[in-house]
This record gives sequence, C-alpha cells and structure tokens, in this order.
Amino acid sequence: MTKKKYTHLFFDLDNTIWDFNSNSFDALYIALQKLQLLEVVGPYPVFFNVYREVNERLWELYRQGLMTKKVLSIQRFEESFEKNGTPLIVGGGVVNDAYLSEMPLQTKLVDGARNVLDYLHGSYEIAIITNGFKEVQYDKIHKSELSKYFRKIFISEEIGAQKPGKEIFEYAIKSMNAPKKSSLMIGDSWEADIVGAMNFGIDHVYFNPKMNNNEGLGSFFDTGDQKINDILTTITDLQEYKPNTIIKKGLHISLINDLNQLIGIL
Ligand SMILES: [Mg+2]
Repeated sequence: MTKKKYTHLFFDLDNTIWDFNSNSFDALYIALQKLQLLEVVGPYPVFFNVYREVNERLWELYRQGLMTKKVLSIQRFEESFEKNGTPLIVGGGVVNDAYLSEMPLQTKLVDGARNVLDYLHGSYEIAIITNGFKEVQYDKIHKSELSKYFRKIFISEEIGAQKPGKEIFEYAIKSMNAPKKSSLMIGDSWEADIVGAMNFGIDHVYFNPKMNNNEGLGSFFDTGDQKINDILTTITDLQEYKPNTIIKKGLHISLINDLNQLIGIL
C-alpha cells in the first residue's frame, strides 16, 4: 500500500460541509414567522438578500476585529430591516436570538459532503476549523449527525483567534499532533480558509462550487489582493502537477467545484 500524502484533514464547516446558505435562509424564515415579522418584511427572498449583504459586510468587520460579536448580532438585523424600508419595532437582538435558535435545527449539507466524509472516515484524522459562533456550531454538527466524523472542532471564538490568522491553524495542528506537511485545509472562503492556510503554510483545497472552470481559474488568480496576486503570478507552469492544482513555495493548492473531487486529490 502506498503511503498517504495526507494524514490530517481540516475542514471549514459553513458552506463547505454544512449548507449555510440554504440553512440560514430557512432558519431566518422560521424565526421571522415565529416573531410574526414575515408579513412585515414583504417578499422574503428579497429581504433575505438584503440581510445576506448586510451580514456579510458586518461579518467582515467582525473578522477584522473592528466590530464586536454583540454589535454584529444586533446591527445585522436592525440594519437589514432599515434597508428593507421596514424598520424593526423590536430590538435586533430579539431577531438574532430567534434566528440563532433555529439555525442548528437545520440539517441540510453541501452536496457530496456526507458521501466524502463517509469515504474518509476511519482513514484520516479529520477536524473542523470554523469562525462561526460557538453556541451554534456544536449544535449544527450534532443535529446534522456529523459528530462521528470529526475528532476535534476548533471554533475561533473559543480559541480567541480567527481564520485567516495563523494562530488558529497553529493551534489546530498542534492539538491534533498533525505534521504540517501531511495536513490539508479544505474550505470555501478564499479569504478565511485559503489565504489563511497559504500564509500558515499548509496545502489547501479551494472549494468553489459556483465556478465554471475557466471563470473559476480566472478568479482564482485575480484575488483582488495585490500581495497574493504577485505570489500567484510567479507560478509559471499551472498544469504541471495536475489540472487545477498549482504549487506555491512547495505548497499544493487545488481548486474543486464538487466535494467528491477531493477524493481524487488525496
Ligand atoms: Mg465557509
């Protein structure tokens, strides 16, 4: 039997394993229904898009340490209702609490996730590295019947460091006794997962399900970050290793649009 290249796999949770986009859509719908705010907001998909944009922007501030969790939790709803032209009569915290209670009850997984985890289970040491809130991440994993797959779950809030910072990767690797060279990070966020793993110095897989190949590779190299663009453009032979995989400073970087493709990389 040939020796495996990787022994330790680190997965992001939201939108890599657990279908955050779909589950958060459903959770907020139920929360608004329970609070009798569903009629207030008008067409729900329109409101949800407003919320998603606001939430993503505020999360970025939170990730950068420019906003506290408490302010984020309240402001994301107050601002969304305001932008939607239907200002909230209750505090944003009320909607946030209702939403967070519903979140972990949603169990939709990303296509292929369970299949891949079943395949890997028992053959690899697997862990989660996530930036999500601690009060929901454990429940999401538990209720979605994912616990058996992961030896450890590293939550930024508990560790006191967020992706893409090196500290959380360092902490996770040490806790798992994982050699860097045989560790692989898999995630859907360019900024948090991929830049994070790249800076820390472990191989990584960028899971980008929406791309078609050409567009995906294009955006892969146009990161909007000059420093990373400079590093990536020094790579001369993109196809040398295998399609959609590049090597940077000895690191293997792969791009997949379906989780099942992961099996081919390992
Ligand atoms: Mg994610």
